[in-house]
Amino acid sequence: MDRRKVLGYLSAIGVVGIYGSRILTVETPDNNTSNSDSGAETTTTNISSNDVVISNPEPIKPVIIEKIPTNVAIETSDTAVVDYLYKIQHFNNNFKSDVFLGPKKFLDLKRLSRRLNRAQTIIGYLNFSILDFPLLVKYSRNYPAIGKFTASELELIDELITRSARDYGFFGDKLIANINDKILPRHLSKISSSGQYLYKDAAYNLYKRIQDDVGERVVLTSGVRGLMKQLQLFSAKAVRTEGNLSRASRSLAPPGHSYHGIGDFDIGDIKLGKMNFTEKFSDTDIYKKLVDLGYIKIRYRSNNTFGVRYEPWHIKVS
Ligand SMILES: [Zn+2]
Repeated sequence: MDRRKVLGYLSAIGVVGIYGSRILTVETPDNNTSNSDSGAETTTTNISSNDVVISNPEPIKPVIIEKIPTNVAIETSDTAVVDYLYKIQHFNNNFKSDVFLGPKKFLDLKRLSRRLNRAQTIIGYLNFSILDFPLLVKYSRNYPAIGKFTASELELIDELITRSARDYGFFGDKLIANINDKILPRHLSKISSSGQYLYKDAAYNLYKRIQDDVGERVVLTSGVRGLMKQLQLFSAKAVRTEGNLSRASRSLAPPGHSYHGIGDFDIGDIKLGKMNFTEKFSDTDIYKKLVDLGYIKIRYRSNNTFGVRYEPWHIKVS
């Protein structure tokens, strides 16, 4: 899918950069109101001749979208645009054109993911969130409970970080290009009780302003995430999608592409718990207030051009 085509289309119909909080969805034969990840067989659609849904669900039940907001229906005969929007709304399905890791690499991925999870346990959640690659390698050598990365795991890390994510349908820009990049603690503020960091100044100030304006029920659910943290999250996601990189990237930016690496953060309602990472968040009073106040810019709208699902909880900082 050509991103320019999508951009061109969305700007032609007056969406891109113009309608701050407008939500758009595409009408499709089964524009249903629930996530298909229920364990049941996914319905095959005839949305286009060569890109149908072929199978289903992650073994671990991720999010349940009970309602896809529909304010405006897109009318277009351009099947490429319709397919694109359909995919990011049905992000947790497998599509025929999705790109998978081969069997050997999938085994490496499972080993890598387990090792990264062990590293996070040993190093600690907060420290791991900003850990850089050279330090991770050092830890893995010194701590038998983590264990040294194998050559094929290192090759896979390199591939996941350097491969063009556009190959598998993620269109966001690369934000961190160098695997050895470090996040300096002096640029960060630790947010008490959240177990997260935010960048000082812009991100921190925005978060504080949101708390002041909206109230103490607003919580920081994910702050700064370094390259290794994003690698850990993406690897775990890609294990759950059985090596489907396209499907993994529809709900999580690949390593190097996450705006959490440069300032963005996620917020939630303290009463919503895990459901903060679902569209349920957009039904909360907190979300409505944020929109009414007008200074919250959502990074991943429902019709975004990144190739990512709608994320109302993700706050764009700059
Ligand atoms: Zn986010």
